[in-house]
Amino acid sequence: MNDSSYYTTLPGQGLEQKLDPRLAALAGAYPEPTLLLNRSGIVLGANAAMETMLGAVRIGVPVSLMLRAPEVIEAVRETGASGASRLVPFNLRVPVERSFEAHILPIRFDPDAKTGTPDLILLVFRDLTQAMRVDQMRADFVANASHELRTPLASVTGFIDTLRGPARDDPVMREKFLNIMSDQARRMSRLIDDLLSLSRVEMNVHRPPEAAVDLVPLTAHVRDSLSPLAGDRGVEISLEAPSSAVTVRGDRDELIRLIENLVENALKYGAGGKRVEITLRTEKSDAVLSVRDFGPGIAPEHLPRLTERFYRVDIAHSREQGGTGLGLAIVKHIAARHRARLSIESEPGKGAAFSVRIPLSTG
Ligand code: ADP
Repeated sequence: MNDSSYYTTLPGQGLEQKLDPRLAALAGAYPEPTLLLNRSGIVLGANAAMETMLGAVRIGVPVSLMLRAPEVIEAVRETGASGASRLVPFNLRVPVERSFEAHILPIRFDPDAKTGTPDLILLVFRDLTQAMRVDQMRADFVANASHELRTPLASVTGFIDTLRGPARDDPVMREKFLNIMSDQARRMSRLIDDLLSLSRVEMNVHRPPEAAVDLVPLTAHVRDSLSPLAGDRGVEISLEAPSSAVTVRGDRDELIRLIENLVENALKYGAGGKRVEITLRTEKSDAVLSVRDFGPGIAPEHLPRLTERFYRVDIAHSREQGGTGLGLAIVKHIAARHRARLSIESEPGKGAAFSVRIPLSTG
């Protein structure tokens, strides 16, 4: 068989097929982007996933004209010559940066031939972009969490040394340092609580809650439990809710946590506005819960990132307020578990409004 007798396309391309159509069909059925090459690296066929990855696929041309990845082209040449399979990681930069691995697999028609030049080469690509992004996010998360714990821990350890040494016999200093240590210990404990809540909600995100929960008493409960904090900050909390039940399928504790986080943020960051409004209403088939403050608001460039773990507009201010940077990430995950949508509106200087739209329970 000479090379030209392999020239073909895979099903659906309407060109003459000289390659065994069963082989072409097999490569065509493959879910990952796949190219069929002869041993000289000429493209014989491609599947639909390959067309999506590269745009147009040209049959009968060297693969080097279609794919700008010298490391893959070189490995194809080597497989064509030696018959050994290869696995090559590579990146494509156009139209956006993506990471792949190419599996270069020799195919021999003679079942007894285990070595030597192959009859065909199967080139299969796996897109690793998403998996690598997830790995990166996980690594960033662990680095951020460790950093957030290390800072207060270093402070506590430092004060222990001071209390053992220079401040040993100074009762005023001792009292002062013990207060700081106690604040830092509380900060670590809040962070650990938030990390645990986040991981619990994340673990259950694909299991929608089943209990029927009335949001009216829930919002009143949160308003009452946060009224001492509101009093401390000189903020008035108002609550407007229907007199009849607003029932959703939900997890009571998670919904309380969600409302608490939003109201706490309004009290922490919007205290200057002296007023926080909680409203609960129904709109078509949804319950809509909004928490609005009249503080400094949030600049538009921050809005899309607010629910990222550890993202804070002003880190020092968040720490001063006892923030962990995880509150809105927890809100987002609880909302996702309840098939709810979170929206944030803010006009800098005029305050911020966080709204959650939860589907009403239908039966
Ligand atoms: P934190 O623990 O820092 O409060 P969150 O995830 O709850 O973390 O919030 C992330 C950031 O979003 C906060 O640090 C703050 O910068 C900003 N933010 C949240 N709510 C408000 C609000 N009502 N007004 C202004 N900024 C807010």
